[in-house]
Amino acid sequence: MAQERMLKFVGTGQSFPEKREPNLRAEDFREIANRYAPEKAAEQASRCSQCGVPYCSVHCPLGNHIPDWLRLTAEGRLREAYELSNLTSSMPEICGRICPQDRLCEGNCVIEFSGHGAVTIGSVEKYITDTAWTEGWVEPIEAGPACGQSVGIIGAGPGGLTAAEQLRIAGYEVHIYDRYDRAGGLLTYGIPGFKLEKDVVMRRVDRLQVAGVVFHLNFEVGRDASLDELRAKHDSILIATGVYKARDIKTPGSGLSGIHAALDYLTASNRKSFGDAVPAFDNGTLNAEGKNVVVIGGGDTAMDCVRTAIRQGAKSVKCVYRRDRENMPGSQREVANAEEEGVEFVWLAAPKAFDGTERVEKVHVSKMRLGAPDASGRRSPEQDPEGDFILDADMVIMALGFEPEDLPGLFGSPDLNVTRWGTIRADHVTGMTNLEGVFAVGDIVRGASLVVWAIKDGRDVVEHMHRWMAANVRTTKAAA
Ligand SMILES: Cc1cc2nc3c(=O)[nH]c(=O)nc-3n(C[C@H](O)[C@H](O)[C@H](O)COP(=O)(O)OP(=O)(O)OC[C@H]3O[C@@H](n4cnc5c(N)ncnc54)[C@H](O)[C@@H]3O)c2cc1C
Ligand code: SF4
Repeated sequence: MAQERMLKFVGTGQSFPEKREPNLRAEDFREIANRYAPEKAAEQASRCSQCGVPYCSVHCPLGNHIPDWLRLTAEGRLREAYELSNLTSSMPEICGRICPQDRLCEGNCVIEFSGHGAVTIGSVEKYITDTAWTEGWVEPIEAGPACGQSVGIIGAGPGGLTAAEQLRIAGYEVHIYDRYDRAGGLLTYGIPGFKLEKDVVMRRVDRLQVAGVVFHLNFEVGRDASLDELRAKHDSILIATGVYKARDIKTPGSGLSGIHAALDYLTASNRKSFGDAVPAFDNGTLNAEGKNVVVIGGGDTAMDCVRTAIRQGAKSVKCVYRRDRENMPGSQREVANAEEEGVEFVWLAAPKAFDGTERVEKVHVSKMRLGAPDASGRRSPEQDPEGDFILDADMVIMALGFEPEDLPGLFGSPDLNVTRWGTIRADHVTGMTNLEGVFAVGDIVRGASLVVWAIKDGRDVVEHMHRWMAANVRTTKAAA
């Protein structure tokens, strides 16, 4: 019955299912409803002072024309606002939901500087494009006249999908290869549904499919084809594989059951959102319900894990991080959200050992203190002789960040150049790797980054791929 009950929200005219996804709570729907409310969007948009120094746009990686679409929204000219916002972004409603706005556009709003709280730019951006979808203003992608050339894209995350759209518009045949069973990359299986509803991602994927982009899912490059085989098939290749090797720390007891990698945990939860059978979730292994959960790490992935655990009904959720609040990499807004929801942060603490008979039962934690700044400018943590303590834990989630996999090895292309961190070495202007006609974008070039940067890269690279194919491949193919 709960599945069918709906919550009504005054002023929005919209209904939201009370329980559509296992990790969504009524509060999430209320928050979503508020973000949808038209009067809220107009009210926020009219707070923009049209200051003439658009720091917000400068600090948006896409250079969105923020003050202009805020003005149009305030004037009720929503369709024009949508069209303007759509000019510079391929997924405005997605960025509006999940960009860390406090570090980007909103963090640089002059109203924020004056102490009156930033215009909620992300929420307005989301509202504009969600309205466009509802009203049918989001038109199908119009594929350009066929140019007879094809591109193979490895990876269906935001970088690959964005490039696919632009390449179709330019008239290329586009094939996307992805090892998952669904497209979207981390939009689909990394970021939780309470931040980014999965139907919002899937309607973007469907739009590409309708435009003729061919998806080869469950297709792992390295297993099902080598990079060279794909190069022989297509005129140009784009690598957009993201970074997936979970960082680890060598801690005694880390082999005990009940200790999980963050992405395994989040993927299971996201799969349940799609209604998939997930044995490891269904038998309780990857379900936090009723458990004392300890998440190790202080980045955005850790924040997603703690907030997911709360939604799954964990008994207690603690986040153990070796630096303090000021020096953590995750968004302060996310920390505030997590605290409000009941997550306890254990700052200046690092796991020393995991303890238990077969399953994890306790985490031995070392107290830390901050020493001199390291190469990144952040103060490095060091062990505080003052003492250790113990936390109860039935489930531990390791959220220590991600590194690139060994792509030259995996792809059977030892000649593909990578940096000493394993990211692909691509020309910073054209995005081309050292292999002719092979380009790369997104996290696999930048290291773990943001969706908005992958979108920016995907948009930028297309012009250079187009130039390269026009200048090279046609003649090569003609000669072959
Ligand atoms: C848990 C989590 C939460 C995040 N939350 C946010 C957030 O709130 N806001 C934000 O801006 N950013 C967030 N990020 C970061 C953001 O998701 C990434 O920066 C972004 O998705 C990178 O896009 P991409 O296209 O480069 O790669 P990805 O999104 O990682 O997509 C890469 C795709 O390539 C596929 N692939 C990899 N190897 C192969 C292969 N050999 N063969 C075939 N396919 C392959 C993968 O299956 C995947 O679908 C988060 C990241 C994580 C892990
Ligand atoms: S794309 Fe991100 S940074 Fe740019 S306006 Fe939208 S929310 Fe802000």
